[in-house]
Amino acid sequence: MIIDGKQISAELKAEVAQRVAEAAAQYGRVPHLVVIRVGEDPASVVYVRNKAKACEACGIRNTTLVMDENTPEEVLLQKIAALNVDPGVDGILVQLPLPRQISEAKVIAAIDRAKDVDGFHPLNVAGLWQKTPHMAPCTPKGILKLLSAAGVDPKGKRAVVIGRSNIVGLPVAKMLLDANATVTLCHTRTVDLSSVTREAEILVVAAGRPRMITGDMVSEGVVIIDVGMDRDPDTGKLCGDVDFDSCAPKASAITPVPGGVGPMTIACLMENTLECFLQRVSN
Ligand code: NAD
Repeated sequence: MIIDGKQISAELKAEVAQRVAEAAAQYGRVPHLVVIRVGEDPASVVYVRNKAKACEACGIRNTTLVMDENTPEEVLLQKIAALNVDPGVDGILVQLPLPRQISEAKVIAAIDRAKDVDGFHPLNVAGLWQKTPHMAPCTPKGILKLLSAAGVDPKGKRAVVIGRSNIVGLPVAKMLLDANATVTLCHTRTVDLSSVTREAEILVVAAGRPRMITGDMVSEGVVIIDVGMDRDPDTGKLCGDVDFDSCAPKASAITPVPGGVGPMTIACLMENTLECFLQRVSN
């Protein structure tokens, strides 16, 4: 089975749109997401544009602020501080990566936790690890929703996650653990990766290595979630971390790239924006 992230994300966005319409009727305004892009990184230009399109589809107000590549860190922090206290702004997202002169850690910590739609703020991260209320990060949240939509309950299953970044690998491992899977987390120092991946009933790959997982590395019946968004070194086309052609015949379910995790991340961003709004208006 191919897990259709496009379809599942379209359904989630339709649900968010419905809830936004209801919230607008109740509170007299719609959620407002401000997205800041610093510089002209081509991938960021596309991601920010897609976020604006998704907002439009969900009835969420979007403001995209574009700042010069050479913007000093202080100027960006001042902008964030102003948005934090703006009562008309519900969510703030600063598109990563940032130019060298700006500390990503400082920027992430500067965003008001209550407006942190990405779920990257240290207090939201702490909430995930301590099981206290928090905003969940979009990509891991989307992965858990894809599994659920495919009818896969992680409970009691052996889940293997490749990659231990703060944005994907670590939080997805924690969320699988909270869903009662037994989780193994792999990274560049993992010895004999294949022997670990062959044990997986659920395999989540977030390494950023084009087609590193091949059919000989997985077992029959595995559920594969390919988070990778890579460029094929030969063709330059978008591809994942998983070699789809050799893995799909063995998998009971697998996400494609494109059309898998990517669209879910944006749909979850819309849901997080709505949740930030609802928390603010009900406080
Ligand atoms: P990262 O570079 O921060 O982390 C990569 C991780 O993979 C590291 O922990 C590293 O130890 C591990 N790794 C790298 N090579 C490995 C190997 N050969 N064996 C075992 N482990 C290895 O990357 P990231 O931000 O977590 O992103 C990972 C991938 O997911 C990228 O392709 C990125 O573009 C993609 N991504 C997609 C979405 C989405 O919405 N679809 C969101 C975020 C990231």
